Amino acid sequence: MEVSVVEGLMQDYELSLQHVLWRLERLHGKSEVVTKREQGVHRMTNADLVPRINRLAGALKRLGVKPGDRVATLAFNNYRHLELYYAVPCMGAVLHTLNLRLFPQHLEFIINDAQDKVLFVDQPLVGLLKPLAGKIPSIEKIVLMTDGAPAAEGHGLGEMLDYETLLNAESEDYPWPKLSERMAGAMCYTSGTTGNPKGVVYSHRSQFIHTMGVLQKDNLAISETDSVLPIVPMFHANSWGLPYAIGMSGAKCIFPDRWMGDAKVICELADQEGATILAGVPTIWIGTVAYMKETGKRLPKVHTVVCGGSAIPRALMESMDALGLRMLHAWGMTETSPLGSVARPRAGTKPEDELNARLTQGVIVPAVEVRICDAATGAELPWDGVAFGEIQVRGPWIARAYYNGYDPDKLTEDGWFRTGDVAKITPEGYIQIVDRTKDVIKSGGEWISSVELENAIMAHPKIMEAAVIGLAHPKWDERPVAFAVPKPEFKGQVTQEEVIEFLKDKVAKWWLPDEIRFIDEVPKTSVGKFDKKVLRAGAVPIKENAAPAARK
Ligand code: ADP
Repeated sequence: MEVSVVEGLMQDYELSLQHVLWRLERLHGKSEVVTKREQGVHRMTNADLVPRINRLAGALKRLGVKPGDRVATLAFNNYRHLELYYAVPCMGAVLHTLNLRLFPQHLEFIINDAQDKVLFVDQPLVGLLKPLAGKIPSIEKIVLMTDGAPAAEGHGLGEMLDYETLLNAESEDYPWPKLSERMAGAMCYTSGTTGNPKGVVYSHRSQFIHTMGVLQKDNLAISETDSVLPIVPMFHANSWGLPYAIGMSGAKCIFPDRWMGDAKVICELADQEGATILAGVPTIWIGTVAYMKETGKRLPKVHTVVCGGSAIPRALMESMDALGLRMLHAWGMTETSPLGSVARPRAGTKPEDELNARLTQGVIVPAVEVRICDAATGAELPWDGVAFGEIQVRGPWIARAYYNGYDPDKLTEDGWFRTGDVAKITPEGYIQIVDRTKDVIKSGGEWISSVELENAIMAHPKIMEAAVIGLAHPKWDERPVAFAVPKPEFKGQVTQEEVIEFLKDKVAKWWLPDEIRFIDEVPKTSVGKFDKKVLRAGAVPIKENAAPAARK
């Protein structure tokens, strides 16, 4: 039988970030972009921003930037960085946001790996480039972004061009080229929590669709009426896609610049500028809770605190709820643009089950598909809330390869991306991360989830933070050891025994850590996650003959 295929008669409209720029200009001119400054704030509207984006594109062209060239940024969350977020991809080049907390050798590696041509640097960060002098030959020009202060002397990087001078020399109109949606718009290196950084390259199409996904009501639900304060760095997975979601919706944008870790500044900025949505990793909120409890400060206008990057400890969500800050838990990674799943209680959830639902990593977002697979056999596992295996995903904003072809095995033969996260999925579809493949503790042939143990320990009233790693054990292969930081008022006043006692009715007996080691601070990665590589490297072996707390 002859099959007749009818072609769709819709336009082949290229999904590019130029559309977001179009909305900024035509619809959202009045929306504000506010950036924290040393004194007060810098305030502008999108009507001020767009001509500067045009000028910047002109300046890039004059500097010799051509379609496909990589343009690096070493910058905080501020309006100039936002201008680069638009001008670079919309002129056809590729925005490469450098992680300013990387070690110099990692920075050198990623600049050379990406072969960046021009580098834009915020004035307070010039010092980070000093160790790279003479080692980043692909960089032809460095542009300094400053409110007036000169670059520190002796950086050895030659002449730096001044951002504002470059912009002033250009016209307010730029003839934006026609782009293909498949072109790269940005690249971001993984932060190397479990290995060397690898380049993830986003296309215009992936970023456009991701932006639409972020905005959905069951996802982050950002509207024009919102004021969004992204505390997630603009170098970290494209700031979770927030800059473009804010632009697309016309929401007000509030940037903390370099005061991201300062709870006082964040709370004051959010309060003064009427923030309704905040976004950041759990570490940020741990500091915020302490500050708000101490000062009595409250943020009644905030309706959502987006939180991801690592699991939200139950105690943190409860404290935030008690302060009137409702957390929205999301999961994702650089390779997933990053939005993967969002934890909103599903229709019909009983009120008493809501908190548990919100503490999961949530339900996979529309456009992305998920499955969990057995590590050894690769077989797909059921969504029964019991079986756990590696999360694999596919969809239009999921990476299919790394830049320069590293780690080609990340994609399965049938085209799913291996995330390296281990999870269960409940029959309702909630994803529950058990651990990262590399962090899960193998004890006597069974698996212990370091994440669950950490959460249980962090619920102890005297503990502020806890990270758990597996250390070699002659009999059990590995046993869990916890590194705990007491709350300041309990320093020196909490014992291993009382923590173990506290855990006894919360986790299986054989999960109880062999030791609780008290430390002043958990080492963090460049994006604020517990750095277990550092903990493992510096950990003394499990004490021989230590009466293992677990089996007492
Ligand atoms: P890196 O891989 O260098 O840490 P990413 O920001 O891409 O940088 O990290 C992604 C990883 O962070 C995920 O694979 C997962 O292990 C962890 N992660 C992200 N969000 C969550 C979450 N909500 N709960 C638990 N883990 C999370």
